[in-house]
Amino acid sequence: MRYEGPIYRPPSESDSLLIQATIGCPHNKCTFCMVYKRGPKYRARSVDEVKQDIDEAKRIYGKGIRSVFLPAGNTIAMPTDDLARICEYLRLTFPALERITIYGSAQYICKKGLKDMRKLREAGLSRIHVGLESGHDLVLKKVKKGATRSQQIEAGLIVKEAGIELSEYVILGLAGRDLSKEHAIATASAIDEIAPHFVRIRTFVPKINTLMLHELKKGRFKMLSPHEVLEEAKLLIENVQTRTTVFSDHYTNYINLEGELPEDKNRLLKMIDVALRWDESSFRPFFIGTE
Ligand code: SF4
Repeated sequence: MRYEGPIYRPPSESDSLLIQATIGCPHNKCTFCMVYKRGPKYRARSVDEVKQDIDEAKRIYGKGIRSVFLPAGNTIAMPTDDLARICEYLRLTFPALERITIYGSAQYICKKGLKDMRKLREAGLSRIHVGLESGHDLVLKKVKKGATRSQQIEAGLIVKEAGIELSEYVILGLAGRDLSKEHAIATASAIDEIAPHFVRIRTFVPKINTLMLHELKKGRFKMLSPHEVLEEAKLLIENVQTRTTVFSDHYTNYINLEGELPEDKNRLLKMIDVALRWDESSFRPFFIGTE
């Protein structure tokens, strides 16, 4: 199988077969993301090329594959018909397949619309990981996410209406000190409006080759301390009213906040309160991310 450029997948896809359908990210502007800043340039692979990889995967692993993730950064942006043909071929090749997952940003989901998303669901696409990052328009603008709060909400609702499972990523600390509270409250209300199946929490870590690291070094962005991140997490969890599953499956987080909302809300808030009593030096140290 051929892979080109950085290959990232969500931690929840660690056991999945990785079949690369696109290369790079068509947006590639988020100021916190270093993944494709040095290339390669975005392109979708041809269906024939991807089919050859699927055939090879069957030769190597047999036909019992149960889950597939299709890198790279924004596979939802590839032509709908091509992505649908890839999903159909995967289902044909691996009859036991239970899940096909991709990354997809809100702007590309909105552009495709409900009709295309339904077509993808019928072809077998079953889960999309979307970077909500924040529900606050100013934060989204500052980090050049390429989507407004209302587009994020619209995209989330389209995905759900199409019958596709939706994972929304949230980054604690992304707004820095200046907008921390606003970021937490607006993100909670966006989650409420979308009601995604999963919310996946990450904590902002400045990465090499990113504008945010540059801003931090220039003193124009103020990082949150571990306690401030926990206060932000508390505000977020307190304000989410919808039913959803929260995951904390990432090395950047200070504590492991996982559970069902609303049932586990009090337990999660108590965990945060306990962690807030720990000395800040007991959390992982500040570091600059290199991958
Ligand atoms: S859309 Fe995703 S992969 Fe692309 S630049 Fe933003 S965070 Fe990185």
